[in-house]
Amino acid sequence: MATILVTGGAGYVGAHCCLALSRAGHKVVAYDNLYNGHENFVKWGPFERGDIRDKERLNAVFAAHAPDAVLHCAALIEVGESVKFPDRFYDNNVTGALVLLDVMRERGVKTFVFSSTCATYGEPLRLPMNETHPQAPVSPYGWTKLMIEQASRDIAGAYGLKFAHLRYFNAAGASPAEGIGEKHDPETHAIPLALFTLLGRRDGFKIFGDDYDTRDGTCLRDYVHVLDLADAHVRAIERLLGGGASLAANLGTGDGVTVKELLASIQRVTGRTVPATPAARRPGDAPALVADNALARRELGWTPQRGIDAVIADAWTWHSEIEGTVLG
Ligand code: UDP
Repeated sequence: MATILVTGGAGYVGAHCCLALSRAGHKVVAYDNLYNGHENFVKWGPFERGDIRDKERLNAVFAAHAPDAVLHCAALIEVGESVKFPDRFYDNNVTGALVLLDVMRERGVKTFVFSSTCATYGEPLRLPMNETHPQAPVSPYGWTKLMIEQASRDIAGAYGLKFAHLRYFNAAGASPAEGIGEKHDPETHAIPLALFTLLGRRDGFKIFGDDYDTRDGTCLRDYVHVLDLADAHVRAIERLLGGGASLAANLGTGDGVTVKELLASIQRVTGRTVPATPAARRPGDAPALVADNALARRELGWTPQRGIDAVIADAWTWHSEIEGTVLG
């Protein structure tokens, strides 16, 4: 049993990681500034409110809890916002992570598991994408994540840090039974927006482009259930704490789902039709993004368990029955 400090532990992925780590027998401490996080999502260990740029606060939390490892999920994540406000993203995601890494070095904490992203690859040159695909981000968000991959790799070389860079594809789904799920403000993601039309929270769903070179003309993405993501984080932490080597690994199912297939899944799962209309392409969207997850399977023994219908079923229960009771 280890003590894991989870930055962003009150957020969507961070809270699911706290759940999974706690189920695996570890002690978790959630560190979050509540800018995007929800205090109600912190249920599996103590909550420490704080900002990753606040070195004094981080030092106090490290002193109080003596973590064995840090799982760093805290970040600004909305790609469009990163284009509008790049300075905020560099400040939070780069400066903040460097402060955190500095505190880890001072305190002798040598295990760093990092929420990274397929956005570090930029435009796909081949599909599926494996970890040797060139990393050339096309958004400030992607750059901030790549910079911290590079910084932690260099710090590992200099001071003996061990890292796992976990490059998420499209995190989706929820844990309605545990009262945690997706809630962004504003919401920009396809699955919640499509489900909101069925709940009367949106008038219609726009399909951003139906003339792509994909099997039905709509964008293809690799949606991975957030519980499967969380399971991979537990495996990465246990690998590093158990003496295993650093790694960078894609976390995706390896299966692509188009926007139209997403809507078909919603139809199957809910029995209801999303009112959807084709619209212009969204600037910056790649036609297709699919993970080659062989490395995570091999090195972490990870097998994603849930397909698109399970993702939709959990997201639907979360948004239709649970979200309002947990978050108002
Ligand atoms: N999408 C869409 N309509 C929306 C939101 C998203 O057609 O209202 C599409 C988007 O173009 C992309 C896919 O759904 O191809 C997933 O988008 P999302 O924002 O969920 O994730 P991203 O892949 O951009 O990280």
